Amino acid sequence: MSAPMTVAVGMGGNVGDRLAALRRAVAALDAHPEVDVVAVSPVYETEALVPPGAAPQPDHLNAVVVAETTLAPYAMLRVLHGIERAAGRDPFAPRWSPRPLDLDLLLVGDAAFSSSALTVPHPALARRRFVLTPLADVLPAAVVPGLGASVADLLAACPDPLAVTQTDLSLA
Ligand code: ADP
Ligand code: MG
Repeated sequence: MSAPMTVAVGMGGNVGDRLAALRRAVAALDAHPEVDVVAVSPVYETEALVPPGAAPQPDHLNAVVVAETTLAPYAMLRVLHGIERAAGRDPFAPRWSPRPLDLDLLLVGDAAFSSSALTVPHPALARRRFVLTPLADVLPAAVVPGLGASVADLLAACPDPLAVTQTDLSLA
């Protein structure tokens, strides 16, 4: 066990009961003895990002959860993968496949590090409106390590053209 850290987790899904998957993910995180959920963003409906030339995919629901945890980052990643599996995610599906649940570790306090299994802050964070929009709802002033800009400023500068629309669905 280590000192408590504030982490931000990006959540998304575009297969099956998307809202139920997000709700179960928040509940599963909060039920973990070393994780306390402290904030949840609104839920957004977002156009799916697909590689150039690939077939279009159904829209995602996306949201961000802020939690306090004494788990080390790699242990937290394992917890996230377990929750993805419980939601029916096939760990062997090709990258970019539609998925019932994707949980990404966006921020871990002020930490910045990278290995083959985990890069923190999440490397695509600043390029993705569907991540920055809900992150700015819960942590607008957080300065993203390595980028030296706040989440709110990164969102204001984000060129991502994919639509991100707030819903009236709630995870709280
Ligand atoms: P994506 O989220 O980009 O669609 P996946 O969910 O399939 O892709 O994740 C692929 C791999 O990315 C995971 O096996 C994980 O080890 C790695 N990874 C690296 N950094 C992170 C991070 N910050 N959060 C979540 N996964 C990460
Ligand atoms: Mg992922």
